[in-house]
Formats: sequence, structure tokens, C-alpha cells
Amino acid sequence: MSLRDRTNTTWDVVIVGSGPAGSATAITLAKYGQRVLLVEKQRSPSFKLGESLPPTSIGLVKHFLGDPDGPEQQLPGLFSTAGNVSLWASEQADIADFFFTPTGHGLCIDRLAFDEALRANAVAAGATLLKGVSLQSCARIADGSFNWQLTLISDAEMRQDRARYLVDCSGRQALVARTLGVPTLDHDDRLFAYAQWFSCAGGDDDRYTRIEAAPDGWWYSNRLPGSDGGETRRLVVFHSDKDLPAARLAASRQGFDQLLDGSTHIAPLLKARGYQPCGTIRGAAANGQRLRDFCGDGWIAVGDAAQAYDPLSSQGIDKALRTASHAGHMIHYALTESPRSSAELGSGNTYIHQYDEQQRQHWQAYLSQRDHYYGIQPRWSDQPFWRRRRQSARI
Ligand SMILES: Cc1cc2nc3c(=O)[nH]c(=O)nc-3n(C[C@H](O)[C@H](O)[C@H](O)COP(=O)(O)OP(=O)(O)OC[C@H]3O[C@@H](n4cnc5c(N)ncnc54)[C@H](O)[C@@H]3O)c2cc1C
Repeated sequence: MSLRDRTNTTWDVVIVGSGPAGSATAITLAKYGQRVLLVEKQRSPSFKLGESLPPTSIGLVKHFLGDPDGPEQQLPGLFSTAGNVSLWASEQADIADFFFTPTGHGLCIDRLAFDEALRANAVAAGATLLKGVSLQSCARIADGSFNWQLTLISDAEMRQDRARYLVDCSGRQALVARTLGVPTLDHDDRLFAYAQWFSCAGGDDDRYTRIEAAPDGWWYSNRLPGSDGGETRRLVVFHSDKDLPAARLAASRQGFDQLLDGSTHIAPLLKARGYQPCGTIRGAAANGQRLRDFCGDGWIAVGDAAQAYDPLSSQGIDKALRTASHAGHMIHYALTESPRSSAELGSGNTYIHQYDEQQRQHWQAYLSQRDHYYGIQPRWSDQPFWRRRRQSARI
């Protein structure tokens, strides 16, 4: 690696991570005229989990990307979803139809295209985007300004930048917070997701997300936007606790198939349409976790970096966009009212404090919603997966 120092640019805000949270924070701040640097570790991500958006997210998508139904919309493959079909509270399929919501539908998105469109809008709003660049270190400068001194690295170079304010949008790994010594708390939640893609030559016009409880965890499946070489694709994900035998089984193709064969709803649906597995099984952490502190002196965490949810909530992207909008506004007000000294931008700042309070409320709401949904699933109470959830919720 050739290490080439660059000049010390001072940005108003440096945002680490350009997932939905990072791009939406950048759009909000750049529209206010703040000088924003958006730093993304990956040059071209090839894999993302999380494609479904509930009806309540449509307004947010319109705000950040334009009307998903409008002619100017460039998101490939995006389609409207009709609702959720779940085998959860009983062995009968329960249909939650989006028809009766104010927007009448949800969305299934191609996550890579969605993230790229948000990044493009951040750049169009005036943010500077650096791809293939990661944060190596950050420290407050003891020169009275209390700005951040940041070291950013890529394969090819190292650069030094300065920032008045730092935003952690690096997802579950919460890189900025961890670098500053702030731990994540997971309350012993070990949920892990095992994802397998399927494809079929025939059509599939299913617009429902399928959810199914199982003795050792739970499943979801939805058809994916677009097609791959004329083939329809579908995602099937199994969730279990990483230390349970079912999780070890799900990590292999054979074990995954074995578990899937035991499902009452999803396996027959795949067979009826002639789906075949394609690609390897991908694993991803899916536990609920939060930072001990959502903000500190001159920094804030947004999206999964601040708090990440069990996918049963189906709230991840919505939360990332919604809290990014809130954070962007609060950071702008804080920076505008403290134009000279970054020392006044800690959690004692009125605006940053408001964001912090909102994050605490979101976490409490998430916990009670999660406990409610796990609590209404009545079967397999002797199985470790379900016993743990009943104990943690004190049901
Ligand atoms: C199995 C599973 C299924 C899910 N399904 C859904 C769903 O259907 N609907 C839904 O709404 N949500 C879903 N989610 C949740 C959703 O994926 C996340 O909540 C969402 O991606 C959070 O967005 P984010 O921007 O906070 O973080 P991310 O999307 O994780 O983005 C973080 C970004 O930071 C970058 N980064 C990381 N480290 C660095 C660094 N050091 N320097 C620079 N950049 C860095 C990463 O490359 C990435 O681009 C699911 C999650 C899981 C695990």
C-alpha cells in the first residue's frame, strides 16, 4: 500500500458508512448546505439482506428517492407487496393484508440498487462520497476547536481529514463507537440468520412475505425483484440462536434442506413452483443489539450502528431512514447554533439530547414489540429457542 497523505480538509460532518442510514443522513445535512463527507468501506457491495419495506415506509422512500410509482423512478425490479402470510400464532395461515393500510401496499426492493440510488441522491444533494475507504482512527484535536482529526485508509492511500462532527452509520459493527470505547449491548440475544437464494424458470407472482414459526426458530421467504437470466428468484431465511444445533445444521446446504423439509408452508410453496437452490448459504447476525451510548462529544450513531433489530420486526430500513432524517436535522441545528466550538456538541446539547431520548424510546418500543410477537407463538415452549424468549420477556 502506498501511503499518500492528503491535505487536511475540514468538513462539517463526516459520516462513516453509506447504507440507508448514512446516505439519508448525508442527504438531510447536504440539503441544509453542510459540507458532508460520506465514507464507504466497500467499493461495490455484492450481497445484502433485507428487501421488504412495510406500508409505513412509503412516505420515507418518496422523501429520499422520489415516488416509487413515478415515471422518473429508476429502481430496477421494485414491486409492490400485498402483505404478510404467517403461520405463527396458530397453525392456520394468518393474512395481514396491506390493502387496508393508508398506502395500500408495501415494497420489495433490490437492496443493492436501493442503496446505490440513495448514495447517488446524497451526491446530487452535495455530499462528497469516497468508496473503498475506511476509518482507521479518530481523535479530538486539543487546539480549542475540538474538531475531529480522522485517518482514512483505502487500498491505495491514506488521508487525513478534519470534521466538526462525526456520524457512525457503519451498521451493526458500530465502528466509530467501538473505536471510541463504547460497547454494544445484546442482552444475550444470539439470533443468527441463514439465507439461501432459490431460482425457478417459471413465473411467480406471489406478492406476500411468508413467515413461519418452527421448533428451533423461524422462517421467512419472499420473491425477489427482477430476474436473473430470465429466472425468478426467491429468498428463504432461517433464524435460530447461533449456539443451538439447528443453527449448525442450517449452515450447510444439506442441513438447511433438512430443516426446510420440516416447514409446513414454505417448502410446499417452493416445490409447487419448481424452485431450486442457487448459490451458497449466507450467514448474518440478526440479534437485537444497541449501543450503550447513542451519542457522545461530537459524535452520534444512526441506523443499525445505534440499534439493530431482530428481523421479525421488519423495521430495519424504515428505522435507518427515519432516524437518519431526525439525526440530520438535529445535527444541523446543533452545528448552526454552535458555529465556533465543537465542544458544545456533546449529549448535553439540546438537539443531540432530543435524538438520544428518541433512541431510548425506540429501543423500549422495539423490546416490547419483540416480546409481544414471540409471546403469541404458543407452540414448542419446551424448546430452547422459544423457552429463552419467554424467559427474557418474563411471559
Ligand atoms: C436476515 C436479515 C433480514 C433483514 N430483512 C429486512 C427486511 O426485510 N426489511 C428491513 O427493513 N430490514 C431488514 N433487515 C435489517 C436491515 O438490513 C438493516 O436494518 C439496514 O441495512 C440498516 O441500515 P444501516 O444503513 O444502518 O446499516 P447497513 O445497511 O449495514 O450499512 C452500513 C454501511 O457501512 C459500511 N461500513 C461498515 N464499516 C465501515 C467502515 N469501517 N468504514 C466505512 N464504511 C463502513 C458498510 O459497508 C455498509 O455499507 C434485515 C436484517 C437481517 C440480518
